[in-house]
Amino acid sequence: MLGLTLALRCADQGFKVTLFESAQEIGGLASVWQIGDLTWDRHYHVTLLSDLHTRRIARDLGIEDEFEWVETKTGFYTDGRLVSMSNTLEFLSFPPLDLISKFRLGMTILYASKVSDWRKLEQIPVEKWLTRLSGKRTFEKIWKPLLRAKLGEAYRDSSAAFIWASIQRMYAARHSGMKKEMFGYIRGGYKRLLNRFEEVLSEKGVEIKLGSRIVSIEPEESGKVKVIEPESIRHFDQVVLTCSATVASRLVPGLEPDEIKRLSGVRYQGIVCASMLLKRPISEYYVTNITDETPFTGIIEMSALVDRSEFGGLSLVYLPKYIAPDDKMFEQSDEEIREHFLSGVETMYPAFDRGDVVGFKVSKVREVFPIPVLNYSQMVPEIRTSIPNLFVINSSQITNGTLNVNETVQIAERAFHSVLIEIE
Ligand SMILES: Cc1cc2nc3c(=O)[nH]c(=O)nc-3n(C[C@H](O)[C@H](O)[C@H](O)COP(=O)(O)OP(=O)(O)OC[C@H]3O[C@@H](n4cnc5c(N)ncnc54)[C@H](O)[C@@H]3O)c2cc1C
Repeated sequence: MLGLTLALRCADQGFKVTLFESAQEIGGLASVWQIGDLTWDRHYHVTLLSDLHTRRIARDLGIEDEFEWVETKTGFYTDGRLVSMSNTLEFLSFPPLDLISKFRLGMTILYASKVSDWRKLEQIPVEKWLTRLSGKRTFEKIWKPLLRAKLGEAYRDSSAAFIWASIQRMYAARHSGMKKEMFGYIRGGYKRLLNRFEEVLSEKGVEIKLGSRIVSIEPEESGKVKVIEPESIRHFDQVVLTCSATVASRLVPGLEPDEIKRLSGVRYQGIVCASMLLKRPISEYYVTNITDETPFTGIIEMSALVDRSEFGGLSLVYLPKYIAPDDKMFEQSDEEIREHFLSGVETMYPAFDRGDVVGFKVSKVREVFPIPVLNYSQMVPEIRTSIPNLFVINSSQITNGTLNVNETVQIAERAFHSVLIEIE
């Protein structure tokens, strides 16, 4: 999405653009795949009403009116029970916390939504900040499982800016959606958005090279930049790398040692994310947060958001497990993961029947988003590199937000206006 956005903006500015993508299709983390007869997002994707950058891209691609906006429900699986947590009343009757703890939890969220100086929060460990505001019991019972669900054990090294950014995003959704959680999707899913991207970029003369894995980038005496694929070499006036920071560190051996250290020092979180296609729904919740120990760290029931007619009447459920890039789970076969995950679903939903599973597919990605460690913004790799006309722009430069398409597009737009536009 970052590379596609940049390509669009650069082409509009009159640059002649070539886009290299190592996969056989565009989209990266937001790409689509086939499960059963259905083509849908490889990873669950939702757009919030407040995602103005994503919506502007959709508008520029001529598809903003293809969004559906839906009010969704949220569930919580805690102490072996699935409860609804979709409104204030349900929050007040939430079983695992007493009234005072609930009050402190509510105040923590309200307080976080009002804080504007995230740089101070970056210096405070998230555990310390949340325990101080919500109390030890609420931290252990609610916050810790939620933090571990996304950050694994790295939550211990993470700053309070992470939870601040997550709360800010959810608050923005509620405010722009008439105080309700209005979530959106494009009819046809990301397939529709990516198809439009491909069409519009081609119309604007962008050359899209699929299955083109860059293996090295080298400066030339002329000031041009050499882009090396296994079987070809091309020369460009400017090059922007939009792959992960660690990949960028390996691709450009000519960078200064300090730059390589910064790029390779970004610590990523990975994911194993299963897509499960079912004959019937398992719940009414788009998101089910889990505070018990289960094989996955959350449940996203896409068909609680997206009209099931998009899925031929079936239900689509994602089972994500965020893990460190060196986690042993990456070595497990898809069959092992399927067995492990399905047994977890059976425990959580006694009415679940394996016979209802008509498709199951596993996605594994070792580098999804950088762990928001203490003082992260001071470690961020620079956009300009020591090599003239070579730039690095990627999600590691998101300093006060969580990873989502809106932030990704924003990073691309900001870099385009602040750096790239000058090089005309
Ligand atoms: C499980 C999951 C759920 C998500 N849910 C949401 C959501 O609900 N809402 C939302 O807005 N966002 C969501 N996101 C985030 C969203 O997908 C990302 O913000 C966005 O896709 C990041 O785009 P990117 O271009 O920065 O990175 P990437 O998508 O990682 O793109 C990098 C590209 O570089 C290519 N590449 C790497 N190395 C090379 C090489 N050597 N040569 C050529 N090409 C190379 C890769 O193939 C890839 O296509 C989710 C992500 C995940 C994983």
